[in-house]
Amino acid sequence: MQRFGHVIGPASGAPTSRQWRPVFDPDTAEAYAEVADGDAASVADAVDAARQAAPGWAGLRNSERARHLERLADALEARIEAFARAEAVDAGKPLALARDIEIPRAVSNLRFFAHAATQFASESHHGEAGLNYTLRSPLGVVGCISPWNLPLYLFTWKIAPALAAGNAVVAKPSEVTPASATLLGELALEVGLPPGVLNIVHGLGPAVGEALVAHPRVKAISFTGSTAVGRRIAGIASPMLKKLSLELGGKNATLVFADSDWRAQLDTLVRSAFQNSGQICLCGSRLLVERAVYDEFREAFVARVRALQVGAPLAPGTQVGPVVSQAHFDKILAALERARAEGGRVLCGGDALDRPGWYLAPTVIDGLDATCATNREEIFGPVATLQAFDDEAQALAWANAGDYGLSASVWTRDLARAHRLAAALDVGIVWINTWLMRDLRTPFGGTGASGLGREGGMEAMRFFTDPKNVCIALP
Ligand code: NAD
Repeated sequence: MQRFGHVIGPASGAPTSRQWRPVFDPDTAEAYAEVADGDAASVADAVDAARQAAPGWAGLRNSERARHLERLADALEARIEAFARAEAVDAGKPLALARDIEIPRAVSNLRFFAHAATQFASESHHGEAGLNYTLRSPLGVVGCISPWNLPLYLFTWKIAPALAAGNAVVAKPSEVTPASATLLGELALEVGLPPGVLNIVHGLGPAVGEALVAHPRVKAISFTGSTAVGRRIAGIASPMLKKLSLELGGKNATLVFADSDWRAQLDTLVRSAFQNSGQICLCGSRLLVERAVYDEFREAFVARVRALQVGAPLAPGTQVGPVVSQAHFDKILAALERARAEGGRVLCGGDALDRPGWYLAPTVIDGLDATCATNREEIFGPVATLQAFDDEAQALAWANAGDYGLSASVWTRDLARAHRLAAALDVGIVWINTWLMRDLRTPFGGTGASGLGREGGMEAMRFFTDPKNVCIALP
């Protein structure tokens, strides 16, 4: 059976504790591999390796660090098919999604931050009190904790800026999807990244994640995952006065106005709810539709959702694969039960498929108001709700009704309305007439229960460095 070991210092392979846990294939619900089951001792080893490597890495010229990241990006690009297959098996995502979008995006993340390393600059201030300049220094050893839904995409989104800014990294991928991060860690050693600069420790959140967060030598934690775990991490890291970036859950609204080109955009609207089986923090799982077109929209949308091809991740043509784990499958089924109990009307789907693996039929529900749990709590599966609104004010109130504030999409041809809503929506990202269109220079993150801080572009470079003011008296 395939094994995914830690990558610590120059070595990859066996866990220090010699314990392994099974890794499951969502298509069959059977174990197909094993992953190292780390503990606080593995984290301590990785932090030691990172501490040894950190000064040398920070001392390189920016352009040399950039070249290392470029080399890794090139090597990953040459292996897109292999990495995509690894994620299709590990995470259950359709091969085409991994091959055409997510692994190429991981390549872009590495390349983007290679460029950022050479473009990052700091301010100078003068004309008031002396000549001031800002030194931005790497923090030393930083921790990056990532989830299972976009395994390599989000892993690289964190480690690339951390490395570009001159830090040594200890990263903890999700124990549910350890494959692609391990392969990348091994590839990094193969292409000559100095050992200890990127360390990967596998294992459960409470054992490995918390040990990383609590380690006194780890200066910052960049975390993407659930709001509950984000709160727990904040509880440990905040009293230690560590830098924290928390990218958490979402319950995003999609506002469809009667004047929009929704008929022509139906594929994107369906994708915005069901891509990766709805397991993307940015998915629009609450569609608010103007009453004037509600019936027509509902019929067309449901027909398109019914036509989605649900199937094995490796089968050609699959648009929706299984969900990632037994625990997640059970959680979504419970959410469907709750939606029915709250009075929701299931327009399509609503149940598991009658086949092995963790397959759920893409589900659309209406008849629920903005205050019920179904419309407030993150389900993170192939489940979307529809609500009819009467006017812009009502749409805005419903969109802003929950605790989360990650993203929203607004579909309208009325430019003034688009700008008005963009300003009034209480979220970190607003898309107008599009969804998940990303320029990597833009700030990324959410408000409220969706997190703290921003990733992306120079925001990430600033997070992974400390500013120091140097003031020179001028005669
Ligand atoms: P999760 O919070 O269960 O786990 C995320 C990571 O944290 C995993 O590596 C896990 O092992 C680790 N972890 C778990 N408990 C920990 C603890 N006590 N201390 C330290 N680390 C711990 O999340 P998940 O189920 O893997 O991912 C799904 C969630 O992630 C959803 O809520 C989704 O919205 C969110 N997400 C957010 C974004 C974003 O950018 N805002 C992106 C993707 C996913």
